[in-house]
Amino acid sequence: MKKPKPAKRSALSRRDFFKSAGAGLVASELVAAPANGLPGASATPIVPAAKSASPVRFKPGSGLTQISPNLYVLRDSCNVYVLKDGDHALLIDFGSGHVLNLLGQIGVTKVDAILHTHHHRDQCQGDARAVAERIPLHVPAHERHLFEDAENFWRNRHVFHLYHVANDFFTITHNLPVAGVLHDYETFHWGPHEFLIYPTPGHTIGSISLVGVVDGRKTAFTGDLIHSPGKVITLHDLQYEYMSTDGVDFATFSLQRLRELGPQFICPSHGEPFASVDAGFTDLISRMREWVRAYAPGTTLTLDNHPFAVTPHLVASYQTTSCFYAVISDSGKALFVDYGSASHNFIDSSLKSLSVHDRLRFIAHTVPELQARYGLKSVDVAMPSHMHDDHLNGFPYLARHYGTKVWCYDNMVDILQNPRGNNLGCTLAEVIKVDRSFHHGEKFKWEEFEFEVCHSPGHTEFQMAMFAEIDGARIAFTGDAVHPADGGAPYQLRHNVIFRNWVESDSHVRAVRSLLEHEPNIIAPGHTKPYVANKADLEDLKRRVEQEGQYFQDVIADPDTNFGLNPSWARLYPYQLAAKAGSTSTLELRVRNYRSKPMHLEAGLVLPEGWKASPDVATLDVPANSDGKTGFTVTIPDGWDPARPRVAVAADIVADEQYLGQVAEGVVDIEFT
Ligand SMILES: [Zn+2]
Ligand SMILES: [Zn+2]
Ligand SMILES: [Zn+2]
Repeated sequence: MKKPKPAKRSALSRRDFFKSAGAGLVASELVAAPANGLPGASATPIVPAAKSASPVRFKPGSGLTQISPNLYVLRDSCNVYVLKDGDHALLIDFGSGHVLNLLGQIGVTKVDAILHTHHHRDQCQGDARAVAERIPLHVPAHERHLFEDAENFWRNRHVFHLYHVANDFFTITHNLPVAGVLHDYETFHWGPHEFLIYPTPGHTIGSISLVGVVDGRKTAFTGDLIHSPGKVITLHDLQYEYMSTDGVDFATFSLQRLRELGPQFICPSHGEPFASVDAGFTDLISRMREWVRAYAPGTTLTLDNHPFAVTPHLVASYQTTSCFYAVISDSGKALFVDYGSASHNFIDSSLKSLSVHDRLRFIAHTVPELQARYGLKSVDVAMPSHMHDDHLNGFPYLARHYGTKVWCYDNMVDILQNPRGNNLGCTLAEVIKVDRSFHHGEKFKWEEFEFEVCHSPGHTEFQMAMFAEIDGARIAFTGDAVHPADGGAPYQLRHNVIFRNWVESDSHVRAVRSLLEHEPNIIAPGHTKPYVANKADLEDLKRRVEQEGQYFQDVIADPDTNFGLNPSWARLYPYQLAAKAGSTSTLELRVRNYRSKPMHLEAGLVLPEGWKASPDVATLDVPANSDGKTGFTVTIPDGWDPARPRVAVAADIVADEQYLGQVAEGVVDIEFT
């Protein structure tokens, strides 16, 4: 950065700040500080800056205010916090960038980094200047794309046909290079300081707070989670989906979680820093709760969800995105079946907000309650009922924070460890290391309990049913295989068909038969409360899923109906290849032959111009009712255009002399070094 002009240090003392804390910042330093909290109210015009990606026409009317010996704030388009360490500084949010003109006054000659709490323009509209001065930008992981790929966001954001009403319209208008990514629950180190990167969705879905000790106080930089005790800056930012109260739900949950960390001092992005944390958070939660109660009666806020004991050693959490179950042994060790997001809001609202590369965000929940109320001492093992991210997006957190081992049915291993391999519904974009796997029919003992794992296809090919006797009850953990029918249906149980999840004509039949054979007393499903198993209802479902095979036969042209059910029968693997420009990789064509005779295939890859594949045409013979594969090497040219970092490729296929065309495809993410 340019060396700021040396200037007199602020004469404000710590005592002066304390006099004003809670009642507003020091008046002499905050010339005409806006009473309504809206940014820009005290701005004065300045001469337009030279033409750049981010012209600055105005500057804030106030200067730097000292909060405590090493912490300052500038009330710009947002509050810009300056943490000082000798002549170095760390900035939290950046506003217009005017702060760079003032740092010399407090003896700062170098800004080491800017950390952003969220992506809104008022936080980062001056960042082009920081980039020009080579100050690294660090941004929340789940909003990275809204900084470095903002122009792509604008190309794709619906304005017509607008039902996803989140205020991502407050995204910067031009791309900003990101130097560092702030991942949830990790620590950002700077000099003697450590900041916990704490996920606090609400004002935006990807928002973070930064929590660390500053001048002896546990301080939280909270972005726009809270404006001041009992207040938010806007309510409109707290609605993502049409008519919903989703952002309010996130915000109340985040406030509750953040409060549990015990911060002593809150530094918001708008409004005044304040120390009355407990009362301020309590007031805001109860005011938002009152509004939700009046506007949307019957809505349960996520922070009010609680698990319950099905039997003394089995605790169910059914209000979470997907149910999760804790089998808690007498030793206090727990085996979890599934562990997803804290509530449906946490998945539903994420779907349209995340980048194509991002994983479903996870915010920790429920474990402290299991410790306090149900004697849980450790989360020893977690097992996914199936490979869907709503059932396992908490697994990486469990592994990192509790040392939890991951066990699963054996056909899920590759999907968990290599999530880019396939194109299946609801895959988590994060590698999960598997510690142990089980084959169909395998029994195992864990603590004082015995379990049996069975393949349970249908909802997805990659699902188990697990049976155990717990406190005298025969429990079936069934994932999403069966669930109670909606009110008014002429039957009690239903199944679901999602073709992208890999469905074959007898998949559901096999799952329901296996359930019937094990004669469970209680079904512990992946969604809805556990319920008492009823053989007649299961028999009725079995009849209906058997009948469904006939519907498939009637409606699908190919007599081998699975070709019309499974879009992945011929597929490129990995589906999402990641490879460097100039490198050579392998792409496989994988085929499941559903015919009762061998299948002969010829295939050639369809690649972007300048790419090379070998062989030009591959041949493959797949035995009847079996799987087969063949490989291609793919070379990406050196000097591939960085403006095309993700491209689609396809395979053109002839099967048994019938020209099918480009029926398999994949994408390639090109990495540039
Ligand atoms: Zn904001
Ligand atoms: Zn599922
Ligand atoms: Zn599910």
